[in-house]
Amino acid sequence: MLAVPNTVAVDAIDALLPQTQCQRCGYADCRDYATALHAGEAEINRCPPGGAATRVALGTLLLRDLQSIPALADDVDAYAAEHVALIDEAVCIGCAKCLPVCPTDAIVGAAKRIHTVIAEACTGCELCIIACPVDCISLRAQQTRANTDHETLAAREMQSTHLRDAYAAHKIRYAARAEEGLSAMIAGGTTTEPTTDKRALLAQILAKAKARANPGADA
Ligand code: SF4
Ligand code: SF4
Ligand code: SF4
Repeated sequence: MLAVPNTVAVDAIDALLPQTQCQRCGYADCRDYATALHAGEAEINRCPPGGAATRVALGTLLLRDLQSIPALADDVDAYAAEHVALIDEAVCIGCAKCLPVCPTDAIVGAAKRIHTVIAEACTGCELCIIACPVDCISLRAQQTRANTDHETLAAREMQSTHLRDAYAAHKIRYAARAEEGLSAMIAGGTTTEPTTDKRALLAQILAKAKARANPGADA
C-alpha cells in the first residue's frame, strides 16, 4: 500500500489524468485509476497518454520524491497520440460491437449497417480495435481536438475537460439504453439479463488489453 496524503481527494487525482479512457493503466477508465491511486493501490506511472507531465503532476500531488519519478511501467502498452481509428467499410459486418466501447461516441452506424469513425471525436484509444471481431479497424495518423499530444497539463486542460464530458455523456447514454432494454424484457415477461452488458464487454476488452500488453502472463 502506497502512502497517500489524506487531504488529497479522488477528484484532484482524476483532474490530472488525460481522460483518454484507454484502459492502458489496467483500470476500466481514468476515474478507476484515480480511485486506485487514491487508495494507494497503484503507482503513478501507468498512464501512457499522460506521459511524463502526468507522472510529475501526480508525484507532486501525492508528495512523492520528485527526484525519483518512475518511468512508464513496463507492462503498459504504448499509446499512439495523434492517430485516429479508420474502419475498412468493405470488411465491416455491422455487428455494432465497437459502439458501446467508444468513450467519446466517435463511431456512427446502426446494427447490420456499415460503421464509420468521426475522426474529430476520436482519441485513438484503440478500444474499438480490440472489440472488433473481424479486425477491420486500424489507426492512421491524424491530429484532432481529442488526440493532440500536449506537453503540459495546462495545455491539455481544455481537451481533458472535453473528453471527461464526452465520456460522462456516453455512460449516461448507455446506462439509459441498458435500462430501456431491461424494461422491455420485463414488459415482455422474460427475466433474461440484457445481452448488451457493457460492463461484461469492457471486462473482456480489459482482459484482452492486458493479455496483449503482457503476452507471457497467465490470463
Ligand atoms: S492509461 Fe488511459 S484510462 Fe488509464 S489513466 Fe491514462 S488515459 Fe486514463
Ligand atoms: S473510435 Fe475507436 S479509437 Fe477512436 S475514440 Fe472511439 S474507441 Fe477509441
Ligand atoms: S466492431 Fe468492427 S465489424 Fe463490428 S460494426 Fe464495428 S467496425 Fe464493423
